[in-house]
Amino acid sequence: MFEAVVNLCLLADPLLCRDILLPGYEAEQITACTEAIVANPPELSVYLAQYIVAAPHCRAAVAAHPYLEIAPGIFVQKGAIDDATIENQGDVANLGFLIGTQSVAVIDAGGSYTVAENLYRAIRRETDLPIRYVFLTHSHPDHIFGVSLFAHLDAQIVAHHRFETTLAHRYGSYLENFGVRAGRANLLGTFLPHVDITIDGSRAFDIGQRQLVVQSWDNAHSGTDITIRDPETGIVFVGDLIFDEHTPTVDASVLGWRQALTTMQAAPYTTAVPGHGGPVLDWSDAVDPVMAYLDVLITDTRDAIARGDSLSDAVKTIGQSEADNWVLFDLYNPRNATVAYTELEWE
Ligand SMILES: [Zn+2]
Repeated sequence: MFEAVVNLCLLADPLLCRDILLPGYEAEQITACTEAIVANPPELSVYLAQYIVAAPHCRAAVAAHPYLEIAPGIFVQKGAIDDATIENQGDVANLGFLIGTQSVAVIDAGGSYTVAENLYRAIRRETDLPIRYVFLTHSHPDHIFGVSLFAHLDAQIVAHHRFETTLAHRYGSYLENFGVRAGRANLLGTFLPHVDITIDGSRAFDIGQRQLVVQSWDNAHSGTDITIRDPETGIVFVGDLIFDEHTPTVDASVLGWRQALTTMQAAPYTTAVPGHGGPVLDWSDAVDPVMAYLDVLITDTRDAIARGDSLSDAVKTIGQSEADNWVLFDLYNPRNATVAYTELEWE
């Protein structure tokens, strides 16, 4: 098998170069791949402002990473329980795809263009059907930096109605922080995604004999959370509304997140794919650990505020009884305590 790539070198740092995958030109023979590029040249102008762009060419395809088939036609990959590093290439969030009779839906695009390349190859190992939708569960970099790969296809990008404005404010700092940790070469080819379909409430998407129900949630984990449910199997991709192993991270609201989980507990889910950990959880076991952590955060924060503790003192105590239950606790709990304190001091 052969695949098309294009070499990009950063204008601002011309020694930083990488061949990025151009999806859609895969072929058994290199001549067929090359002829496909000539017949239907890739649109590369989007890169010209930032990169030195070489002529696209074909090469032997890289092998696909393993994905787990959790139900017929539903595949997931568990991200590393880690912060982004050059070694893991930013592959630290769970990703998935669902195959219908007409098309494919992708759930989250990964923490770098390199991660999206692996996801795309895993899809193509299973099916030649077109990728119709890419659902972005929320706007955090580990879930979205790979999405520009799918912009080369006719895939529709679907996200929360507040996704674009929220991400626009933070995109630069995400590139400088998460992006640098994931390895700048892995981010070559990444650009700010344009959302084609926004979700405000609930909406169904048909990929052929498979109706997916997508729902937006207000001000919970990130302020841009959506969930994607396959009613036929009861499987729901919950993004970072559920964490497993990995310490939950609060970006938007501890009270709002708790409210969303309470609502979700009554939903007809049987199996959850969380944003981190798992990658498959019985729904009956999925909510309680995150709810317990949020409850401790809320109780400890209210106690600290009632005692008159300063933010810097409060951060040392809030949530500590949960330390043994989660990985990466010392990295994320102080930030969560800060968010909780800032939110609850105005109650
Ligand atoms: Zn997140």
